[in-house]
Amino acid sequence: MKSLSETIAAVAPSATMVMSNRSKEMIASGIDVISLAVGEPEFATPAHITQAAVDALIRGETHYAPSRGISELRQAVADKLNRDNHIAVTQREIMVTAGAKDAVRITMMAMLNKGDEVVVIDPSWVSYEPCVQIAGGRAVHCSLNADFQVDESVYEVITDKTKMIIVNTPSNPTGAVLGRSSLRLVADVCMDHDLFCLSDEIYEKLIYEEEHVSIGAIGDMLERTVTINGFSKAYAMTGWRLGYFAAPPDALPAMDKVMQHSIGCVNTFAMWGGIAALEGDQTCVEDMRKEFERRKMFVIGRLTGLGFRTAPAEGAFYAFINVGGDDVATANLWLEKAHVAATPGTAFGAPGWIRISYAAAMERLEVALNRIEAVM
Ligand code: PMP
Ligand code: GLU
Repeated sequence: MKSLSETIAAVAPSATMVMSNRSKEMIASGIDVISLAVGEPEFATPAHITQAAVDALIRGETHYAPSRGISELRQAVADKLNRDNHIAVTQREIMVTAGAKDAVRITMMAMLNKGDEVVVIDPSWVSYEPCVQIAGGRAVHCSLNADFQVDESVYEVITDKTKMIIVNTPSNPTGAVLGRSSLRLVADVCMDHDLFCLSDEIYEKLIYEEEHVSIGAIGDMLERTVTINGFSKAYAMTGWRLGYFAAPPDALPAMDKVMQHSIGCVNTFAMWGGIAALEGDQTCVEDMRKEFERRKMFVIGRLTGLGFRTAPAEGAFYAFINVGGDDVATANLWLEKAHVAATPGTAFGAPGWIRISYAAAMERLEVALNRIEAVM
């Protein structure tokens, strides 16, 4: 047999998916594992969104759609970005993707050449570096400072091969929100060195303190920024696989080619659900956000009571816990002895930390924390 792809061999599996698969296997074998390893709202998708997709199915919206997405959804996304994010785009700069993860992949495939460097600011989500690698690029890491903000040290990793910087606010895994000064600094680096910026704003609506700022709205950043967002987190639509991006007009044709030769287009009827999400009543988003905030207060309170230091839980739905020492061993201990699945910080470039998602139901969080207390 010939050997498989060396590029893929060099890519790490998704730690969140590995942990989630492991806990599913344990559950299937009869063990009551509480999975806090994957960030996924346990709420059902709001009924008016599901109904819009059902109506679309019954209407016969079951054929291929345009590769960039149906015009009605691209218009709804453009309206949303103008309204909520002060990002001045038209639907010509929008593409609908199979989740925000697909948007990250498409961006890397369309923008990177072999050997191009992409700055990843740690702690960072598990799929950024692999998406860079799959596209032939190289991730170069720098770190947030002790306040979980970007500082001047980002300049130290810039070389003549740097092509792009990734920012993610509110952050997975830390829950921290990047302030205006962090984003201005990133914008300055991008302008000074002629870099693209990928801004992953999937947790935008889940924010408890501070305000969300889109880097695409700062100065002239729009012309070099790909703003990525989606429906999974704000509207509890993880299984729909629906996301989108706004990109510089010159990049769109290349990004479209990646879509045309891979997924082709996103599920047509799912896109009608996306329109209902963006254009419908937003009370459901606020109701879920409030409930996440309640869970956050509970989880952070319990962890602090147990003597743990946690990152600022300003947004998203993760508690990022400083456990010190070997985080992989601690996560294994929690899984094997407490039957609580969590993701070790090493997977996010942050050894010594563990991430738990508080998007699980409150009763499960209570039991999980009791069990963690017992094994600690
Ligand atoms: N970006 C971040 C930071 C995430 O946490 C996730 C969650 N999977 C994604 C992108 C992708 O989300 P989805 O593909 O479900 O839209
Ligand atoms: N983004 C979520 C997480 O970090 C979902 C899993 C994934 O796509 O990695 O847990």
